[in-house]
Amino acid sequence: MKAPEQIWFNGRLQPWRDATVHVMAHAIHYGSSVFEGIRCYATPDGPAVFRLEEHIERLFQSAKIHRIRMPYDAGTLVQGCKDVVAVNGLRSAYLRPVVLRGVSGFSLAPSHDAPVEVAIAAIEFGAYLGEEGLRQGIDACVSSWQRAAPNTFPASAKAGGNYLNSQLVAMEAQRLGCAEGIALSADGLLSEGSGENLFIVRRGVLYTPPAAASILIGITRDTVFELAADLGLRVVEQALPRELLYVADEVFLTGTAAEITPVRSVDGITVGAGSRGPITAALQERFFGLFDGRTPDRWGWLDPVAQQRAQRVTAAA
Ligand code: PMP
Repeated sequence: MKAPEQIWFNGRLQPWRDATVHVMAHAIHYGSSVFEGIRCYATPDGPAVFRLEEHIERLFQSAKIHRIRMPYDAGTLVQGCKDVVAVNGLRSAYLRPVVLRGVSGFSLAPSHDAPVEVAIAAIEFGAYLGEEGLRQGIDACVSSWQRAAPNTFPASAKAGGNYLNSQLVAMEAQRLGCAEGIALSADGLLSEGSGENLFIVRRGVLYTPPAAASILIGITRDTVFELAADLGLRVVEQALPRELLYVADEVFLTGTAAEITPVRSVDGITVGAGSRGPITAALQERFFGLFDGRTPDRWGWLDPVAQQRAQRVTAAA
């Protein structure tokens, strides 16, 4: 990872080396943080952040679920995201806002006024599961680690602690020579990848596990719902057994980092023709078309980084 020069930290831009938290911060000991992963794309009109307001809204919801007091309003964090892209001179970036419980003793039930720290970093970032993975598909395996049951760790909160489970899933997959692991929910049905939602294509219909399957309700997942509707494809959210992965025509993963990544094998069994399938390719085409202007953004998903500065310049001129 190339370190960015400036990070937005507790309300202002600061040099990388100054954006630090204390070793006694509650979050370090207990995983009490919530965060987001957001992409900014280099579009023909300059850098634009994809579905920024929805990501910040999910950050607030994650904090609400875990009763973490947010010290800033959504507008401040939206602007902070744009500022870290602009100040570091980035054309495209992966944005990482994180909200964490600071130093407040060892109590597992911190008081409402316990300190909360907020940082936003923007880093240069390529294809999470590799450029080749995006084109050819990746090899995945079903993990021996399951997702936490719904009444243990709330999966719809993107909380730091949840990612201990994701790390076990991802590390096991890599040890087995796979690019990604797919976890089952506590009842043994399909859930999601360590950092992606899961889709199966069968006889022209898209299937994906529902919110109750211990998934993070992905924003890319929702983007696929919209793009699939545009292509006249039906998407069904339903509980899915593991073996559908083996007999699917196509399987793909979605996430801010992984974008839309085809899966060409699961547990050593070839999926469909063993390469990117036609529906996955059509969805990728629409998805990546949003960022080079081929797909009109009729949803208003792209939020330009420079718009405000440009407006300010115009106003002053
Ligand atoms: N599930 C998990 C566990 C994730 O970490 C992510 C990435 N944020 C996703 C799904 C996909 O979510 P999104 O499309 O909003 O990035």
